[in-house]
Amino acid sequence: MRPLLQRLPILTAASCLLALSAAQSAQNRSLVLDNVRIVDGTGAPPIERGRIVIAGDRIAQVGSVESVKPPAGTETIDLTGRTVLPGLIDLHFHIENDPKLALRQLSHGVTAFRDPGQWDEKFVELRRMIAADHLPGPRIFTAGPHIDGEHPAYPADSVVARDAEEARQQAEINIRNGASALKIYFRLPFASAKAVIDVCNAHHIPCTAHLELLDARELIAAGLHGIEHVTSFGISIVPRVEAEAYRQAVLADNAARREGRYKLFAGANLDSPEAQALYAVLRDRKPWLDATLAVFEQRADRPAKGTKPETAAMMVAGFAKMKQLTRRAGLEGARLVMGGHSTVPFATRGEAPWREMELLVESGLSPLEAITAATGTASGFLYQTDRLGTLRPGLQADVVVLRDNPVANISAIRTVDRVMIAGTWIDVPRYREY
Ligand SMILES: [Zn+2]
Repeated sequence: MRPLLQRLPILTAASCLLALSAAQSAQNRSLVLDNVRIVDGTGAPPIERGRIVIAGDRIAQVGSVESVKPPAGTETIDLTGRTVLPGLIDLHFHIENDPKLALRQLSHGVTAFRDPGQWDEKFVELRRMIAADHLPGPRIFTAGPHIDGEHPAYPADSVVARDAEEARQQAEINIRNGASALKIYFRLPFASAKAVIDVCNAHHIPCTAHLELLDARELIAAGLHGIEHVTSFGISIVPRVEAEAYRQAVLADNAARREGRYKLFAGANLDSPEAQALYAVLRDRKPWLDATLAVFEQRADRPAKGTKPETAAMMVAGFAKMKQLTRRAGLEGARLVMGGHSTVPFATRGEAPWREMELLVESGLSPLEAITAATGTASGFLYQTDRLGTLRPGLQADVVVLRDNPVANISAIRTVDRVMIAGTWIDVPRYREY
C-alpha cells in the first residue's frame, strides 16, 4: 500500500506550505499520555496505570508509569480514568455516495478503513476533503470493484469476468489502479476465483470474498485469505442437497438470499459433518473472518416492517446461529476482525463499527477479544502489522481515548473523548457534524 499522501490530488503551492509546516510541527513534537489505562491491541491484559510517549507521528514508548521515563520538558496530558487503545480499523466500509460518513466514523475512533469493493472514482471527493483539511487520515484502503461473474449481484460496483483469464486480467488492473486487496463475489466460478487468489499471492496482497454460492472449504484450501460476512459459510455447513437448492434459488434471483440465508442458518447444525469439514480447513489455514454481524442483525421485538410473525421468528433464529458460528469459527482458528458495513439496522449514522463490536461480544468474545479484532488482528488483514493496529514503539500514533473502560463493558467504545492519527489530534466535534 502506498502511503496516503502519495495518493492525494496535487496540492497548490500555498496548501503545500501549510501541509508541510503542519507535518513538520507534528514531527518535532513529543507528547506524553499519562496515568491512562492502556489496551494495546495485541490481546494483552490492560496496563491499568500506563504511560505512552509519542514522538512526531509515531509511538516511542509504552508501559506502566513506573517503567516509562518521560523525556524531560515534554508536554504531558493527564488521562486519569480514561482508556487509550489503537485507532479502530473498519474492514468493511462502503463509501457509496457518502464520503462524509468516513469523516464521521473518524470522530468515532475509526482511523483506518477498507472498502471491499468499489471503483476508485468514488474516493476522489473524500481524498479532496482530507487534503483540504490537511488531515492525516482516515487511512484509506481500497479493493477496486468486486470481481463477479455474469449477472453480478451489484452491477454498479463490479467488473464481470466471464472466465479465468478475464478474472486474472481484471485482478491485475485493480491492483495497478491502487487496490491493496481484491474481493471475489459469489457468481464467479471456482476456476476464476482461483485465478484471482493466485494474482493476490503473486502481488502479496490479501484476497477476500463474499462466497454465498462458492464453497468456503474449497476456496480457503485454494488459498483464499479472508471471508466477508459469516453468511459466506452458509452452503458449507449444510447437507449438499440443501446447499444446492439454495445455490439454484440465488442463481435464479440474487434477491432470494435476503430471506433464504436466514432460513439456511436457522436450520443449520453447527456440529454437522459439513461444518466439521469447514472447521478443519479453518484450523489448517486460519483465514480472516469479517463476520459483519450488524448488517444481518434481527431483533424479536423489532421485526422489519411487513414481515410475517413466523418469518420474523425464523430470521431471529437464523441470526442467533450466525453469531454462534462466528464464535465457533474464531475458536476453530479463523482470525476474527471487525467490519461495520456503514449502514446497518440497529445503529445510527457512523455507529456501525461500535454495534459490530457489541455483537462480537454478544457472540461470546470477551470485550478484550473484540477490541483486538478491531485493531491488532484487523491490521494483519491489511498486511500492516508493522505500521498500524497496536500500541508498540515505532508504529504510527493512531489512538483513541475513551472516557469509560471498554474492557469492563464493550459499549464504552461509544465514549470517544479524543482521536489521534499520526501524532495529530483531530477535531472530534467538527467531524461529528458530518
Ligand atoms: Zn458489503
